[in-house]
Amino acid sequence: MAITRPLTGEPLPLDLLNTTWMEQGARRDMFDTPGALGDWLAAHDLPQDAPDAETTAFLVEAREAIRAVVSGAEGAEAAINAVLAHGVRRLRLVDGRPTITYEVDDPARFPGWRAAATLLDLLDTRPDRIRKCANPNCILWYLDTTRNGSRRWHSMETCGNRAKAKRFQDRHA
Ligand SMILES: [Zn+2]
Repeated sequence: MAITRPLTGEPLPLDLLNTTWMEQGARRDMFDTPGALGDWLAAHDLPQDAPDAETTAFLVEAREAIRAVVSGAEGAEAAINAVLAHGVRRLRLVDGRPTITYEVDDPARFPGWRAAATLLDLLDTRPDRIRKCANPNCILWYLDTTRNGSRRWHSMETCGNRAKAKRFQDRHA
């Protein structure tokens, strides 16, 4: 069954965070829907070489470690390093071409490890542009790619409009 999420298209580690979102006050999780894991992996060109349950368990572990890092939570470094410890990025020159290969100690860990490794790349290049939607009731994350870094909401149409309507109400209360 195809699942409709409120925000897609963000870089891998943030898109992993966006597999959970708030819907009518309840937290939804894409991976609770059978078959959705396969869709998500395919969308990110990630292989599925292990059973769903194991792959999902490690993805959820990586997701919460990533959330801890971007939220500045206590214990975040230990959590993300525990995920990263299960794989390496190997650099080689093959037939004159730079080649990167990834090795993980368990194929079920690869998608989660890859998301965590990509978070480190993001922290290296755009750390100041990793943002959470400014709506306190929204748990979505995005990379702010606007020129002046002015994006505040995951979506102007939903969270942005709600904030505008609330300011209007506050002024007229
Ligand atoms: Zn939002």
